[in-house]
Amino acid sequence: MTFAPLIPLNDGNSIPQLGLGTWPLDDDQVAAAVVRAVEAGYRHIDTAVKYGNERGVGNGIRATGLDRGELFVTTKLDGEFQGQDRAVAGLEGSLKRLGVDYVDLLLIHWPLPARDQYVSTWQTFERLQAEGKVRSIGVSNFKPAHLERLMAETDVVPAVNQVQLSPAITRTAEREFHAKHGIVTESYSPLGGSGAGLLGAPILAQLAEKHGKTPGQLVLRWHIQNGLVTIPKTADPGRMQENLDVFNFVLDPQDLADLSVLDEGPGAGNDSDRTGH
Ligand code: NAP
Repeated sequence: MTFAPLIPLNDGNSIPQLGLGTWPLDDDQVAAAVVRAVEAGYRHIDTAVKYGNERGVGNGIRATGLDRGELFVTTKLDGEFQGQDRAVAGLEGSLKRLGVDYVDLLLIHWPLPARDQYVSTWQTFERLQAEGKVRSIGVSNFKPAHLERLMAETDVVPAVNQVQLSPAITRTAEREFHAKHGIVTESYSPLGGSGAGLLGAPILAQLAEKHGKTPGQLVLRWHIQNGLVTIPKTADPGRMQENLDVFNFVLDPQDLADLSVLDEGPGAGNDSDRTGH
């Protein structure tokens, strides 16, 4: 069985470098997927209030029979829980639905800068962490400007920023900013997301053949070698194994250079000053 290596976080905890994405699985689908993923060696599950499947994730966790401490569980608070300590009730709801005493990582799902509540939400996160209801705290879809403000006005530097990232949407400057401040970058939609054409790119077929791997494995290996944490989603047991089987080959410098043809440039991907929930 393959296990993903652990990546250290700035608060002394660590996160398995590859986990299971769970959007848009419903409660029943996700419960079965969590069990299959754990059987395949996954120890990291990514969910969110917005996905509406935390109950199913919790059912899956209990069905695995694993000790709670063996699994890394992330959830994300939606915009309705930003500001005025609403995150307290938000996290309570997540813990109840998941059926756990704590989550390993709690993220602010989107910065929603027009609402101007992410700083006070983060201050509530700091308290929730001090109370032990969450081991690590982080953000998602934050731009460097949002992080700059958070770091200037609060005490705890986010452990993680989970952003849309792939060989097409590389966010190079953002990754450099995170590294400079000790923030781990986590890639969502790492395979390009459902319905995207990324995996059909000819360069991926060529390199997949060279390494005896699939295009999906090539892309996930790109994330791993870039030091990113990543959470590919699938409910298919074969693909689950395939996606975890990326720790036994290495892309050489020429492969990495060849993959840069996929890069759509600095403006690619969603813009969290304009979108979010
Ligand atoms: P993704 O993981 O890049 O892509 C998922 C798609 O790829 C699905 O259609 C899946 O199909 C397919 N797939 C999976 N493994 C494959 C393989 N080995 N070969 C070919 N196709 C494969 O995209 P995502 O679901 O958007 O992102 C992953 C996770 O990130 C989500 O599930 C969610 O947990 C998280 N996320 C977070 C945010 C945020 O705002 N923080 C936003 C979006 C997503 P099958 O399922 O049919 O296998």
